[in-house]
Amino acid sequence: MTVETHRIHVSTRGDTHVVDITEPIAEAIAGGEIRDGIVTVFVVGSTAAITTTEFEPGLAGTDLREALERIAPEDGHYAHEATWDDDNGHSHVRAALIGPSLTVPLVDGRLALGTWQQVVLMDFDTRGREREVVVQVLGE
Ligand code: ZN
Repeated sequence: MTVETHRIHVSTRGDTHVVDITEPIAEAIAGGEIRDGIVTVFVVGSTAAITTTEFEPGLAGTDLREALERIAPEDGHYAHEATWDDDNGHSHVRAALIGPSLTVPLVDGRLALGTWQQVVLMDFDTRGREREVVVQVLGE
């Protein structure tokens, strides 16, 4: 059993920007030795999240944002904003709901994703950010 750790850097626009990171993850894994195992994808920071979706403009540009706007509206009341006098309570709540990480099986050197299933980073912060994504592969 071996562990390989890769890091990917992603520039975002914030404001529920959804970025397809499937290709950089696959490239990072291809540079390692492990062909079969478990891939953990984890974003550093409490205002971003990792999940999968079909990466097309309707979902990535509109539907996910609108769903999260109903659950955690940008102009809602957040105690967090009183704590730090900042403006991103909704960002933290959205990030906590989606979650910071994802595991994907690695089979014969390939991520076991569906054809219409991409790994995406969602950045909920109120400004653009440089995000670090840790891709850790456990296997052989
Ligand atoms: Zn904050």
